[in-house]
Amino acid sequence: MSPDPIQSLAGPTSDARSRVLIVDDSADVHRLLRARLKHDELELDSAFSEDEGFERAIAMLPDLILLDIGLPTDEGLRLLRRLKDEPRTRDVPVVILSGFQSPQVKVSAFDLGAVDYVTKPFDLTELRVRMRAALRTYELLQMLSKRAQIDGLTGLWNRAFFDKRMAEELTRAQRYGHPLSLAMVDLDYFKQVNDTYGHPVGDAVLQGVARVLRRETRESDLVCRFGGEEFAVVMPETNPQDALKLSERIRIAIGETRWPRVPQLHVTVSMGVIGATAPGVLPNPEDWIELCDRQLYAAKHNGRNRIAHAFVPDSRPGELKAAG
Ligand code: GH3
Ligand code: MG
Ligand code: MG
Repeated sequence: MSPDPIQSLAGPTSDARSRVLIVDDSADVHRLLRARLKHDELELDSAFSEDEGFERAIAMLPDLILLDIGLPTDEGLRLLRRLKDEPRTRDVPVVILSGFQSPQVKVSAFDLGAVDYVTKPFDLTELRVRMRAALRTYELLQMLSKRAQIDGLTGLWNRAFFDKRMAEELTRAQRYGHPLSLAMVDLDYFKQVNDTYGHPVGDAVLQGVARVLRRETRESDLVCRFGGEEFAVVMPETNPQDALKLSERIRIAIGETRWPRVPQLHVTVSMGVIGATAPGVLPNPEDWIELCDRQLYAAKHNGRNRIAHAFVPDSRPGELKAAG
């Protein structure tokens, strides 16, 4: 069973303790903060310099960074700039701790992307409240960005997420010479379902098909609503033969599904499946989608409720062996 995208909205952060990276050259400040924050639900980590701070931030991807900009020379502001330039840490909120009161330094820090600025000596209650506010905003932003990747009707990953992950999986398969397969699933005569039973029943059918797709696929598969009544399943580490078996299982399972609100209804799907044992010849996701779509079209053309597939050969660039 592939995981439920909606479950991921709760996020690991809501139960787990927030992880905070403290970057300050003074061991006293670390000691003080650790002592004072020890009753908060926080996991604290320490770094003492610009480079160490950057490395720790990349390694742990904290939920919040407390950054001293009184670090020797301009290390603090430099580190802030590096963190904001680095895609992996760009969104992590940075709260500045600083002995500098001057407006110019504050303006520079905010311009570079700090979310807050607390001057030393700091009042602990105030620091705590500001940290909590930054963590809350960060959690909310993460939740919103995840929600933007989920299809509202079916709860599956949406097209935007599919595009992103398909590109990532293809790059990975090409780099390591690993197998990759893709299936497109399109409901047969779905317009008739809407026309005969109404749109709400059509919606319920789409939700039911989404459930079957999740149930029949594995943890590592990515099930997406590609659009309308069309779904896509990305199968990393899956060779074409196995992808075909899985697709056949999906096709049969959907055909066997009973619809309690309309017992006389039978829903079938047509599928296009392509796969490679070590993709190298088809350079980009658009090519994969186009080829998969071509198979889907063939499945429709040949009578629907069936699968058409093609192998992507490993060594003969540009060639595709049609089958099925
Ligand atoms: P084919 O077998 O050739 O795929 O025929 P089809 O009727 O499934 O294909 P067509 O493209 O003609 O119609 C697709 C239908 O899917 C039309 C559209 O109203 C319906 N549809 C798309 N999105 C939704 C949705 O979110 N809810 C409902 N209820 N229907 C939808
Ligand atoms: Mg259709
Ligand atoms: Mg369609």
